[in-house]
Amino acid sequence: MNGSRPITACAAFAVSLMVACQGSVNRVSRPQMGTIVNVTFIGDPTTAGKVSAAVFREIDRIEGLMSARRAGSDIARVNSRASGEAVEVSDETAAILQRAARISEETDGSFDVTFAALEPLWDFRAPSFAPPPPSRVKALLPLVNYRNMRIVKNTVFFARPGMRIGLGAIAKGYAVERGIAVLKRFGVRDAIVEAGGDLQAIGNRHGRRWIAGLRHPRRQSILLTIELEDGDAVATSGDYERCVVRGNARYHHIIDPRTGFPAQSFSSVTVVSKNPVLSDAYATAIFVMGMEKARPFLERHAEIDVVLVDLKMYLFVSKRLGERVVLLEDMPIHWW
Ligand code: ADP
Ligand code: MG
Repeated sequence: MNGSRPITACAAFAVSLMVACQGSVNRVSRPQMGTIVNVTFIGDPTTAGKVSAAVFREIDRIEGLMSARRAGSDIARVNSRASGEAVEVSDETAAILQRAARISEETDGSFDVTFAALEPLWDFRAPSFAPPPPSRVKALLPLVNYRNMRIVKNTVFFARPGMRIGLGAIAKGYAVERGIAVLKRFGVRDAIVEAGGDLQAIGNRHGRRWIAGLRHPRRQSILLTIELEDGDAVATSGDYERCVVRGNARYHHIIDPRTGFPAQSFSSVTVVSKNPVLSDAYATAIFVMGMEKARPFLERHAEIDVVLVDLKMYLFVSKRLGERVVLLEDMPIHWW
């Protein structure tokens, strides 16, 4: 007993020295983008506050440009005026809208920022929420079509009066991308920036890979974990985040632009790629596509891996994720 003490002390000293050389794991959180943003990075703890503040400032700036709820943001101005005139937006917002339009093309309209014309019908925050009658949905559907969002240089014009746009399915990915860029500017090499479940990891955690946990769509538990390689960006779209259950029907916030109703295909779609914006947008798009369309889409897109949970709680995982996935629930994995 006595003899082991100095050894323990020595070991502890060695570990603390190692941590001092490598930097400590700093984690700072803040409510932003309608969710919680977590910034985790290896570095000098005495400057961690300054570094994380710069990340939060950058994300706040993005919200100021792209949140439809912020008065005076590019998106708020577009929504209130672009039905009548071409509205000038920042180069950055124009670039994100161009990226969104490309993703709409690639996903055959499953991803479509003009879904937002339907948003007032699907306001789950309202305590009196009731599913809208199909006639009201049908009446607004002609306003949903990304092709009618005309982007010329850095102006946006709606070809149909009454259109709206919302970046809820892509802005968090962009915030994560920019957050990581800020950390790199400070010389950080090992980090995770996470906004409400969407994240990107760079480097590692003192020589071990960073790990992301995926929530079980129907339980308050972790379904599986994924070891992250350098640059991996993970995003999840689920029917459990914001939803209302009425009888057998589950109404949630991912809208199928073709029907105007919440997509009834998966309970959870996770995309792993090297690009946070694509992971975020593709997770939403695949959720809307459903299994049948997702298969050929994923065959065409070798740059993305997925974890899919369908409505029967069948679990599908890309073979490429293989040994990096650890399942924590007792359910079979269908590899593909
Ligand atoms: P989460 O916000 O839970 O991470 P998503 O990334 O899938 O999930 O984003 C869902 C949000 O995207 C919705 O709250 C809404 O703002 C927006 N959205 C819903 N349906 C679509 C769609 N078909 N295309 C583009 N954006 C959508
Ligand atoms: Mg998304």
